Amino acid sequence: MAIKIKHIKRAELNFWDKTYLPSLFLGLAITSRHFFRNLFLHIFHSVGLFKNVKASVTFQYPEEQRPLSRRTRTRHRLTKREDGSPRCVACMMCETVCPAKCINIIATENPDPNIEKMPKSFDLDLGMCVYCGFCVEVCPEDAIRMDTQIIDTAAYSRKAMQLDMNDLLNPQQKKDEDG
Ligand code: SF4
Ligand code: SF4
Repeated sequence: MAIKIKHIKRAELNFWDKTYLPSLFLGLAITSRHFFRNLFLHIFHSVGLFKNVKASVTFQYPEEQRPLSRRTRTRHRLTKREDGSPRCVACMMCETVCPAKCINIIATENPDPNIEKMPKSFDLDLGMCVYCGFCVEVCPEDAIRMDTQIIDTAAYSRKAMQLDMNDLLNPQQKKDEDG
C-alpha cells in the first residue's frame, strides 16, 4: 500500500526574517529584561525594599541542591526490616525486569524459617542504569526504592558507580564517603 506524504507549505521568509536580526534583538531584550529585573530587585531587597516581589536566585550546586519533587526517581536504596536486615527476598524480579541489566543478585538461604531467601550480594551499576524505575514497580516486597533524593552519580571511574548491598542499604553513608 502506497503511503501518502502530506507536504506542509512553510511560510515564506521576508527580508528581516532572513537577516535573523529581529529574533536576535528580541532574545537579547528578553535576557536583558530578566537580568536587570533581578539585579535591581536583589539590590532593593538588600536595603529592605520590595521584599514581597520575588527575584530569581541561582542554586549554588553542588553546595546547594534544588528541592526535588517527592516523585523524582533518585538513587536507589534497599529498605530494611526492623532488625536491620534487608527486606529483599532475592526473588530476582528486579534483576529480570531491568532493561539495562545492571542489577546482579546472588541469593542465599535466610536463617529465618519464615522467609525462604535473602540476598547474599546485591550489586547495582549506576553507570548502566537508565532510571526507569521498573525495579521499584516490580518488587513484591517494597524492598527497593528510588527516593533517596540523591541525584549526583558522577564518579572518576566506572567502578565507583557500582553500588553493593551495603551502599544500597546505607545510601547516605555512601554519599558522604563520595563527598
Ligand atoms: S531503574 Fe531501571 S535500569 Fe535502573 S536498576 Fe531499576 S530497572 Fe534497572
Ligand atoms: S524484586 Fe524486590 S524482593 Fe525481589 S530481588 Fe528485587 S529487591 Fe529483592
